[in-house]
Amino acid sequence: MGVFVRWLQRTFGMAKKTCPVEQECLELLRLMLDEQATEEESKYVHEHIDKCYRCYENYDLENTIREAVKNKVKNLKVPPELVTEIKNKIDL
Ligand SMILES: [Zn+2]
Repeated sequence: MGVFVRWLQRTFGMAKKTCPVEQECLELLRLMLDEQATEEESKYVHEHIDKCYRCYENYDLENTIREAVKNKVKNLKVPPELVTEIKNKIDL
């Protein structure tokens, strides 16, 4: 269902709407991505980003950053100091 809802939101411009709980949701989804959120918190985030395009975008961005950092650490193509610097910047 999520994909269809997001398509609707994008198509009808709902994505431009702000989210009243964006900050709260952003903090929770960061916790979740760092695997520090409780089960209820993760559930809340999943249910929310399924309905809220704005928070889904935040989730997508945070997730992409983490994946990029993870892959760089794995491949070791980047000096470790730089990885540490990036990690500090995004508060991992
Ligand atoms: Zn939201």
